[in-house]
Amino acid sequence: CGIVGYAGARPALNIVLDGLRRLEYRGYDSAGVAIVLSGDTDDGDAAGRRRPGELLTAKRAGKLANLEKALAEEGAHGLRVGATGIGHTRWATHGGPTDRNAHPHRSFDGRVAVIHNGIIENFAKLRAELEHDGIEFASDTDTECAAHLLARALQDAAGATPGEKLAEAMRIVSRRLEGAFTLLAVDVEAPGVVVGARRNSPLVVGRGEGENYLASDVSAFIEHTREAVELGQDQVVLISPTDIVITDFHGNPVEGKPFHITWDA
Ligand code: GLU
Repeated sequence: CGIVGYAGARPALNIVLDGLRRLEYRGYDSAGVAIVLSGDTDDGDAAGRRRPGELLTAKRAGKLANLEKALAEEGAHGLRVGATGIGHTRWATHGGPTDRNAHPHRSFDGRVAVIHNGIIENFAKLRAELEHDGIEFASDTDTECAAHLLARALQDAAGATPGEKLAEAMRIVSRRLEGAFTLLAVDVEAPGVVVGARRNSPLVVGRGEGENYLASDVSAFIEHTREAVELGQDQVVLISPTDIVITDFHGNPVEGKPFHITWDA
C-alpha cells in the first residue's frame, strides 16, 4: 500500500516513520520498517547493543502506534543511528492482517529485508519451488518469496560493489515475478543502499542533498525535497546518499525523467 525508502546521513528511522505517517491517508492494516545501521554514528541504545551493519526490522498489525510500541520494546524507539531504511504500510491481499504477515519480510539467511506493494501472481509456484529446496516460510504472503529469491540471487550476482550486486539480484528476481509490484530491499552487505523495482505499480525517486528517497507517492518525501525522478515500467533503481542509478530489468541503463514538484501533496 504505502512505501518509503531512505539513503543518507540523517537518522533513517524517524525519516521513514514520518514518511509512513504522510502515507497514512491511503489506509492500511499493518506497518513495518527495516533499518540497516551505519558505521559512522555510535549513539545506539543505552545498552550499546546496536552494531554497524546490523539489520533491524520491526512490524505490527494495526496502527503506526503499534509499530512504535514494538520499536520501543526493541529499545529502538528514537534510534538515532542508521543511514538506510525502508518502511511499509500494508493492505493485505494474501494472508490475513497479522504481525507475521506485515512487511518487511526477511530472507531465510537474514541478509535482506523486503517490502512490497501489489500482488505477485505466480507466488504459489515460486513458494513451492523454494519449499522444495528446504526454505521455511514465516508468513502467508505472496511477498515473502521475493525475499528468499533475492537472497539466493545475491549468492552469485555480479557487480563491482555490494550495492550493484543487490541491484543485479533485484533484476534477476524481477524477471521471474508476474503481476504488479513495487519492491524495495535492503541488504546487510550493502549498508548505504536501497534498491527498488517496479512493474504495474508506482515508485518515485526523491533527490536530496547527500540523501535520496524512494516512495510509492511523493507525499512521503515532499517535506525533504521537491526534486523527483519518474521511473518507467519494468525498471530497477539503486539509491545511495549520492547516486541514483536506473536500469531496465536486463541491466540496460535508463535515464529517469526529472520533475519538480510544484503542488502541495
Ligand atoms: N500482496 C502483499 C500482501 O498482501 C502486499 C499488499 C500491499 O500492497 O500492501 O502482503
